[in-house]
Amino acid sequence: MGGTVIEKKINRFFGDTEATGFGTGWWSGVLSAFFGFLAFGAVVCLHFPQVLTSPELRGYYPMPLMRMLIQGLIVGALLLGVVSAMLRRKKVLALTGMVLALGATLLGGASVPINGSLGDGPAIGLDWFLLDMLLMTLIFSPIEVLWPAYPEQRVFRNEWLLDIGYFLSTHLPIQITSFLILLPATQLTTYLGVPSVLEAMGRLPWLVQFFLAVLVADLCEYFIHRLFHTVPFLWRFHAIHHSSKALDWIAGSRSHLVDDVVVRGFMLVPMMFIFPHDMIVAYLFFVTLHATWTHCNFGPTLKWLEPYLILPRFHHWHHTSQKEAIDRNFAIHFPWIDRIFGTYYFPKDKWPDTYGLHNEKMPAGFWAQFLYPFTRKKAA
Ligand SMILES: [Zn+2]
Ligand SMILES: [Zn+2]
Repeated sequence: MGGTVIEKKINRFFGDTEATGFGTGWWSGVLSAFFGFLAFGAVVCLHFPQVLTSPELRGYYPMPLMRMLIQGLIVGALLLGVVSAMLRRKKVLALTGMVLALGATLLGGASVPINGSLGDGPAIGLDWFLLDMLLMTLIFSPIEVLWPAYPEQRVFRNEWLLDIGYFLSTHLPIQITSFLILLPATQLTTYLGVPSVLEAMGRLPWLVQFFLAVLVADLCEYFIHRLFHTVPFLWRFHAIHHSSKALDWIAGSRSHLVDDVVVRGFMLVPMMFIFPHDMIVAYLFFVTLHATWTHCNFGPTLKWLEPYLILPRFHHWHHTSQKEAIDRNFAIHFPWIDRIFGTYYFPKDKWPDTYGLHNEKMPAGFWAQFLYPFTRKKAA
């Protein structure tokens, strides 16, 4: 419940009744506040890298470039703040961006030194949250704004804050989630793995390996996903992913932790027996981008490609609350997997009219939803 009250308060605090198109100062205000938020968070990360940055990622950061990025965000927040303040009557967004940018600068800005060497101890992945939020926004928000499937859907639609909460919830505990999935999987493969399978796979051309990796992963994901729909106890977890009433890239991150961990584990364990480590990493990159993209509010389609690769319209039919498409389209990469197993539903050129749960009510708010699978009475 809390989530929606906070969201309404935030909407009221920052929003107004003026138009939000280009040239109204809305976009510049939103971007100013967003950049300011990212810059401030990043500078805080520089001050407390031991507790706020993931040991798994630290080693990969090109620090001079990261510092330039932080500096760019600070300057961007200030400039866009000025633009928005000049164009728009309500200055709250602009001021927020500028205050955050100034705060980041006062805390030392991009040049805060990192003292001493950092250990591998427990940490939360604030760095990962900020960086991935920026990356995903850069990749997916422009295409949603420019070519939406549902032009009337707002960027800050209902429950946007809840979905940012879900995004946060999978990024901050990156250590715990990767530990939960990777450790059992690595253990299993060290004891049960067949080295000759890995060697034979490693000799195939990279593109063939990659295609096979996506295929094996999607077959695994198809069956575990179907189970999540058909076993009532599992459905309670997966119902959360289906509770979004409007889809966009961030809606894709709404998912119960148990759902996430079980699905990832169910995919990764078989894959680790067959594919070399770098192929699994390549697949993880691919699935993050592809699965996020299929949730986008993005209209354009390539008709010749639709039968072979899942584009947003196909996964949107998986999320509809319309009876004819319930428990259809379980695959996440290849639609023909659903064809083979008889769960394919894809009306020509049409997008669904409604989304969300078919005959079930989901409580509002992150924690209520987290507890939902454990507390709900058996479905009638
Ligand atoms: Zn589903
Ligand atoms: Zn989905």
